Amino acid sequence: MPKIYLDYAATAPVRPQIEKKIMPFLSEKFGNPSSIHSFGREARKAVDEARESVAKFLNCEPLEVIFTSGGTESDNLAIRGIVTNYKLVPHIITSKIEHHAVLHTCKQLEKEKLAEVTYLDVNKTGRVKPEDVKKAIKKNTILTSIMYANNETGTIQPIREIGKIIEKENKKRKNKIYFHTDAVQAAGYLNCNIKYLHVDLLTLSGHKLGTPKGIGVLFIKKGTPIHPLITGGEHEAGKRAGTENVPGIVAMGQAVKLSQNGREKSQIKKLRDYFEKQIMTKIPDVELNSHPKDRLPNISNLNFKYIEGESILLNLDLKGIAASSGSACTSGSLEPSHVIMTIYDDPLRANSSIRFSLGWDINKKELDYVIKILPGIIKKLRKISPFGKK
Ligand code: PLP
Repeated sequence: MPKIYLDYAATAPVRPQIEKKIMPFLSEKFGNPSSIHSFGREARKAVDEARESVAKFLNCEPLEVIFTSGGTESDNLAIRGIVTNYKLVPHIITSKIEHHAVLHTCKQLEKEKLAEVTYLDVNKTGRVKPEDVKKAIKKNTILTSIMYANNETGTIQPIREIGKIIEKENKKRKNKIYFHTDAVQAAGYLNCNIKYLHVDLLTLSGHKLGTPKGIGVLFIKKGTPIHPLITGGEHEAGKRAGTENVPGIVAMGQAVKLSQNGREKSQIKKLRDYFEKQIMTKIPDVELNSHPKDRLPNISNLNFKYIEGESILLNLDLKGIAASSGSACTSGSLEPSHVIMTIYDDPLRANSSIRFSLGWDINKKELDYVIKILPGIIKKLRKISPFGKK
């Protein structure tokens, strides 16, 4: 039985070029970048080169690049790191469709009475309306955090527009509103030039780009007051203590060089569009959960009406195919996807949606296998479904 991986938005295999690049840092080049001897200097040089490579990718200064343990830590550092600076309870604007790394951090800050938070709705295509950000701004607003592209639907958010609105507002007020975007899913495909986006803080995660897990980046614009969450040595400009994850950092430096390859992007989009068209032709009652145009080229989030997404996943898995549903299993109970719920306010839709996410390793033969298998699975499940049409 073939094994077909269509869950790149969850994580990706390590790219062979990256694996090759980091191998020496797992063996003979093991030095601590803080050591002054040759072993340390060799590691420091590799870290510096990777930082420069990420800075080039983001169009920022190397000193504005902070390496972390991943997207979750970067999101936490961006949000908590800013909030800690204020004496009065500050106000944060975010959206209801953010990743839990942002949402749960905001909820926790509310619980701790350290912040008040506005969670914005999205429109019918899953996008935050820039004018809603403007309307939500208060005197005590200090941070807006809106993701660049959603991890479930792939829908792209109007970050540049929001960034410009906030910049304009900042000209009229004393306390600056900082703007953070979680670009974890976007980084492989969209322009991450921080000057183009008008952001002060931007999150990246390595393992979505083909690095091993456990490495991330937070871009922190010079002058942005961020308190460290992890204290200790003076690593990462005093913003994130701890001996550097040298192999991870080297991998990150390489990953940003390999991402956004035009040929790869258009190939993935072509395959995704082919896959979607075939599925929608062969299976009735399938709906797209994303913005029809403004979405990442690798994600296809589809609503297979009248059936439980989890059972589709299990049946696909039995045939060697890995995809994912928006729903998260929390202590045995199935929680409908907060993203699909926010867009459609429909628990059935949230429970019957599946995300297929493609990456650089996928080929047409693999997709044809899924296209062959899936109609039979859906037909079988609809026959036994309690939710409606057979
Ligand atoms: N933000 C988004 C949009 C994500 O998709 C993810 C991972 O799925 C994260 C943050 C968390 O990143 P990490 O797994 O590196 O902690």
